[in-house]
Formats: sequence, structure tokens, C-alpha cells
Amino acid sequence: MAIANCIECDEEVEIMGRITLGKKVTCQSCGAELEVANVNPIELDWAEEEYDEGWDDDDFSDEEDEEDENIETEEEDEFDDEWK
Ligand SMILES: [Zn+2]
Repeated sequence: MAIANCIECDEEVEIMGRITLGKKVTCQSCGAELEVANVNPIELDWAEEEYDEGWDDDDFSDEEDEEDENIETEEEDEFDDEWK
């Protein structure tokens, strides 16, 4: 475990486990989301959210409901013909 100083409130932030560049840490004092910007000496910087390029447009397809689902076929008439 290592200790670094929060760049927001200057309180000590515990960094659990192995210290690696870009490791995400959260300040227990102010809740700031930080990441390790330098390992030796340990420096913290604001954690930048990585753009998630996996998002898609599925949410926009729900408004295309078809209203033609109840088209009646004429199969019943053809079926009657077989009984004549
Ligand atoms: Zn803080």
C-alpha cells in the first residue's frame, strides 16, 4: 500500500495493491476520482474517462413500430373451397 496526496483536497489517499501508471484510485476524503500519473514519486492526476467506442444506436430503434401487424389473410376462404 502506498500513500499519495489528493490533488483536490490534499488529504492522503491510500493506493491499494501494485502501483501502476493509470491505476484508478478514489479519494476517501472528497470522493475525487484520480489515477496514478507518476509512480516514483507517486503523483496523482484526474482520472480521465476513456471513451467507450462500443456504444451503439439501439436505443433509437424502438420508435419504428409497424402498424400493419393485423393484416388478415384470405386463407380461410381457400380452405372452405376444399369442402365443396
Ligand atoms: Zn480528496
